[in-house]
Amino acid sequence: MAVERRRFRVSGVVQGVGYRPFVYGLARRHSLGGFVLNDGTGVVVEAEGDGRALDAFAAGLRDEAPVLARVESVAAAPLAALGERAFSILPSDATGRTALVPADVATCEDCLRELFDPDDRRYRYPFVNCTQCGPRFTIVVDVPYDRPRTTMAGFPLCAECRREYEDPADRRFHAEPIACPVCGPRLSVPLEEGVAGLRAGAIVAVKGLGGYHLACDAADEDAVARLRARKHREDKPFAVMTNDPAALVEADPGDDELLRSRERPIVLLRRRADAPVAHSAAPGVPWLGVMLPYTPLHHLLLADFGGALVMTSGNRSDEPIAVDDDEARERLAGIADLFLAHDRPIHRRCEDSVVRAAFPIRRSRGFVPGALPLPVRAGRTIVAAGAELKSTFCVARGRQAFLSPHLGDLDTELAYAAFRSDLELYLAMLGAEPEVVAYDLHPEYLATKWALEQDAELVGVQHHHAHAAACLAEHGETGPVLALVFDGTGYGSDGTLWGGELLRCDLASFDRLAHLDPVPLPGGAAAIREPWRVAACFLERAGVPVPFERWPAVRESLQVNAPLSSGMGRLFDAVDALLCGREEVTFEGQAAVELEHLAGAVEAEPYAWRFGDPSLVTDCYSDLVAGRERSEIAAAFHEAVAAGAAAVCAEVAEPRTVVLSGGSFQNLRLLESTRRRVERLGFRVLAHRLVPPNDGGISYGQAAVAAASTR
Ligand code: ZN
Ligand code: ZN
Ligand code: FE
Repeated sequence: MAVERRRFRVSGVVQGVGYRPFVYGLARRHSLGGFVLNDGTGVVVEAEGDGRALDAFAAGLRDEAPVLARVESVAAAPLAALGERAFSILPSDATGRTALVPADVATCEDCLRELFDPDDRRYRYPFVNCTQCGPRFTIVVDVPYDRPRTTMAGFPLCAECRREYEDPADRRFHAEPIACPVCGPRLSVPLEEGVAGLRAGAIVAVKGLGGYHLACDAADEDAVARLRARKHREDKPFAVMTNDPAALVEADPGDDELLRSRERPIVLLRRRADAPVAHSAAPGVPWLGVMLPYTPLHHLLLADFGGALVMTSGNRSDEPIAVDDDEARERLAGIADLFLAHDRPIHRRCEDSVVRAAFPIRRSRGFVPGALPLPVRAGRTIVAAGAELKSTFCVARGRQAFLSPHLGDLDTELAYAAFRSDLELYLAMLGAEPEVVAYDLHPEYLATKWALEQDAELVGVQHHHAHAAACLAEHGETGPVLALVFDGTGYGSDGTLWGGELLRCDLASFDRLAHLDPVPLPGGAAAIREPWRVAACFLERAGVPVPFERWPAVRESLQVNAPLSSGMGRLFDAVDALLCGREEVTFEGQAAVELEHLAGAVEAEPYAWRFGDPSLVTDCYSDLVAGRERSEIAAAFHEAVAAGAAAVCAEVAEPRTVVLSGGSFQNLRLLESTRRRVERLGFRVLAHRLVPPNDGGISYGQAAVAAASTR
């Protein structure tokens, strides 16, 4: 038997996922000698033994990898045999900075069993974890991923934990965040105090994986209303954490799978009429965002409390979530009655992910920093700065793009500071320096201002082109395609606000083929806050008497401050203002959500509408005045937008693929009706599955455009 020795270099997500113990077991099974270690680029293996055994071993490195691993490549090279018979795991080698940090993983079944087993030494220990679960991204300071380079560095292992950590047969073999009640992190107050507080209607700040949550009894109308008032969040729905989603929402088996996935996102589902949840948790919408517990602390809290909890980000409305303990105590002082914290530091901010009908509204905890595909190679490191609302940034190199967690709205100094520090941490994690910087054309966005200050090649990317590019890129395509991009607002190449767009584009460039007729926004931002102003403009231009009392006063602002907008969001705003009489919206997309709800599944023929014409608003209004059912008008309006969009694609005819992107396509009725109508005309449709259709996906699209246009 000829003895050979080979060196394998494995790259991808291979650290912090139980890969070394797996290699150890694999080598023993094939009777090979050698070693495995982590370095800054991934995992290095040297194995020695029979040639056929080595072939099988090499195949196994990829095919039999642990579930949490994502093996991107296995490179092999022959070496001279050394006569090594034993196989060992060697200490990490800190060269290189390209190893990929894994995402945080929800507590696994094995750990849960221990958590609730009175005979286990980790019974009711809120920080139990193993190689298959626990914090990763939020605690990793540097690669290679080893305990000294995590925020667990300050917790020396007790003898018992060390024994588990060093035993190849133990399921905690090299579980870097391993901990127990003897040696690990501790809660700042006894859990019973937190539970008692929740029962008494208190608002409790709970330290989680990537930041603080604010929690209260989801069934307690008083507590939820108080949380809303203190957080300065008027109507935007709160998420609810529960062990029993079936009692709160209608979830089909697919939703259930999503809820139970190891990413544990918040899933937006139809609320049950009899759900024991306070009205003010999600006022005025038929949906409820629910998630299952994903840390041991959450599991203990829910088990002891016995009901569902509102769990919303620890911040004032739309600010970045608080992570630092002192900062959290200061920022949440006026909101939380009680702090349930602990002494394991959070290194990286990471908010909960939100999913609706299997596309992300927010791609964050559990998914980040997992790589997204880049259909063209980025020769240099690209940093894409993103937009303003639902801000994210994106770092790309080679064929990979790393989208940041959700940062919140980037429109305050606090948010801007978080953007810069989070970006710095992200670049350090990837060992990258920005060489190309991509940015939105809006001159007032803080992300754009940041970009323009960078010493790098600058690539300005039009907002809606970035939306379309994000959708193309996630499908691994480069175009050319037609793209229907519908959203509230994005800065156009001509300095006006766009958002009801038909583009012909590929990753590198676009043409604007058609768009909604621009409407003035009387008072600028005030018209976005008070959509009736936009409705008034539509009616007045059509010569229809305006029914709003405040119009004569507001009308004057048309002369001084009335930027033009062709945003689809404004069309939804105007129709909603007429049908629902809402005076003011308090969060982006609120009017569209209300209108989608009103339309429900009501069947209606679309209004005859040529894409772009302003007539649609007046058509809806005449029907309203004539006494037609409001839900029917809302349904006919949705169908008209979808039918008009499909018809304008048919007119252009080529290319035969249509991308659907932009925040308006979070509206399922609009998305599904447009998809159906466009497909019926023989087009292929690409919609989002991996990144949000809203502005949270913009930075990824910018990165794809920059990669294609700087080759
Ligand atoms: Zn586990
Ligand atoms: Zn211990
Ligand atoms: Fe947008």
